Amino acid sequence: MNEALEVWIDQGLCTGDGICAQYAPEVFELDIDGLAYVKSAEDELLQEPGATTPVPLPLLTDVIDSAKECPGDCIHVRRVSDGVEVYGPDAG
Ligand code: SF4
Repeated sequence: MNEALEVWIDQGLCTGDGICAQYAPEVFELDIDGLAYVKSAEDELLQEPGATTPVPLPLLTDVIDSAKECPGDCIHVRRVSDGVEVYGPDAG
């Protein structure tokens, strides 16, 4: 798949285990509140609910693995073009 993808985290379900930040620290980071957030391309933590960040192609596998392993089932990867979730709990 080479379509542009973006990712967001539902903090309401995050367990704070940090698996995503281990897999893809360029994209995910734990804040001092103990929950994981996505980061912008400029390395800024995005804390608005539902904030998305682009998935860099070289990190696609790491981000997909994060979504698969996420114990909270709360990492959502979707297509930018139509917003359809392609990896995560709501993926068809
Ligand atoms: S893997 Fe999922 S539950 Fe664990 S810290 Fe990341 S978003 Fe939260």
